[in-house]
Amino acid sequence: MIEFRNEPFTNFADPVNKEAMQAALTKVKSEFGKEYPLVIGGEKIFTENKLESRNPGKLDELVGIQSKANRDLVDQAFQVALERFKSWQFVSPDVRAGYLFRAAAVMRRRKFEFAAWMVYEAGKNWGEADADVAEAIDFLEFYGREAIRLGGPQPLVPLEGEDNRLTYVPLGVGVIIPPWNFPLAIMAGMTTAAIVSGNTVLLKPASQTPIIAAKFVELMEEIGLPAGVINFVPGDPGEIGDFLTGHPKTRFVSFTGSRDVGLRINQIIAKTAEGQVWIKRLVAEMGGKDAVVVDESADLEEAATGIVQSAFGFQGQKCSAGSRAIIHKDVYDEVLQKVIEKTKQLTIGLPEENYPIGPVVDEKSYNKILEYIEIGKQEGRLVAGGGKAEGNGYYIQPTVIADVKEDARVMLEEIFGPVVAFCKAENFEHSIEIFNNTEYGLTGALYSNNREHLEYARKYMHCGNLYFNRKCTGALVGVHPFGGFNMSGTDSKAGGRDYLLLFTQGKVISERF
Ligand code: GLU
Repeated sequence: MIEFRNEPFTNFADPVNKEAMQAALTKVKSEFGKEYPLVIGGEKIFTENKLESRNPGKLDELVGIQSKANRDLVDQAFQVALERFKSWQFVSPDVRAGYLFRAAAVMRRRKFEFAAWMVYEAGKNWGEADADVAEAIDFLEFYGREAIRLGGPQPLVPLEGEDNRLTYVPLGVGVIIPPWNFPLAIMAGMTTAAIVSGNTVLLKPASQTPIIAAKFVELMEEIGLPAGVINFVPGDPGEIGDFLTGHPKTRFVSFTGSRDVGLRINQIIAKTAEGQVWIKRLVAEMGGKDAVVVDESADLEEAATGIVQSAFGFQGQKCSAGSRAIIHKDVYDEVLQKVIEKTKQLTIGLPEENYPIGPVVDEKSYNKILEYIEIGKQEGRLVAGGGKAEGNGYYIQPTVIADVKEDARVMLEEIFGPVVAFCKAENFEHSIEIFNNTEYGLTGALYSNNREHLEYARKYMHCGNLYFNRKCTGALVGVHPFGGFNMSGTDSKAGGRDYLLLFTQGKVISERF
């Protein structure tokens, strides 16, 4: 098998790609308003209770209608998944990986179409949507190879007269709760890591982006994945969230989302249900309050570009987003000025027309971000953006708040929107202290040309993904295994060689001759 390599990003400056994307957008639009079922054991179930998924950039556009599960249907899905697990757990890892490779190949052929769904349903511009599809393909290719590696012989110390083997066996039925911000990549990555390891799952997509998940579920059916391996159960978190995670048959929960929901799940799964014979496992990727640090030796132009990309890529709706800029006092004014200029150049508009800045995902996020902007105005000096932007959707201006104190709320709390706070550091050590002054620890970036500073940062910047002289978003599968410390989650390193171990347990078989 060929070695894993990352899927390249599409160059939309090439007219061929541009046309292909436009054609995909037109095709996808022609499918708007369709109804999507739950899928339990391969059976498609339409329910009375439905969710309308709208384009956050054009609110009168109905992307699709998704049926919602209730507790009875979730319970039914558990029974099906348990039954399917009996055989799926013994399907060889090679065969299981084959489904992922085939899915990757089909997704690659339909790249523009998958990207187009995200443009409409999540409000991603073309580049962000294309990167999301590329990452989904990467997860499929990478986890497929990892399953084969883990399925092969594992190194043990030899002992004469005995044959010893370590194998990794699956856990059981898992609950997959992915986020809306990487509605294809992270959703598909979390789901396929679990199934390629031999588990069966209940997948509850984010309420903001059920249709892209439904499209992925359709794809997995198309490529022949046996019914019941992935059971698709969208629904209201209030109705089925705790029920899913608290269910006695849940063996593990794989969650990506907010700190508060992650902590709630952690609490729920800690309770042992009647008849439960295992400790439920949690794989959680939660929030971030990430920062770009700039010292006095840095290339300031590069640093300013990195700050803008880290803060405003996909409207700042990434847990990796650089929502703080911590700048050495000697270069503070210059970096700030450059960032203001670059921010003012960012145009805002419809994702399908590929504006750099699109809408945020929904009304709740919109209101929360606008509130934080008001808080920021009290805590610092507004130097760019500062409120709503025009359009029939949840548009917010990319916003820069300067001269913020290190313990200001906009320096401590995750905003998950296009807002960056600037804070001045007295010296380099001080900038690292400010960086670490957060309950999260996901990503960070340092711009510096000072080797001593870089070495110091290696030790003292406390986060799971630390980048030097580049932006703090955009981890690549296999290259930058992704996950963070403290309230950022269980540091589960998605896209890394440890990841599948989280969905398996080691079994040693020792035969004496
Ligand atoms: N892996 C993404 C990145 O490196 C962020 C994932 C997330 O926001 O959950 O930018």
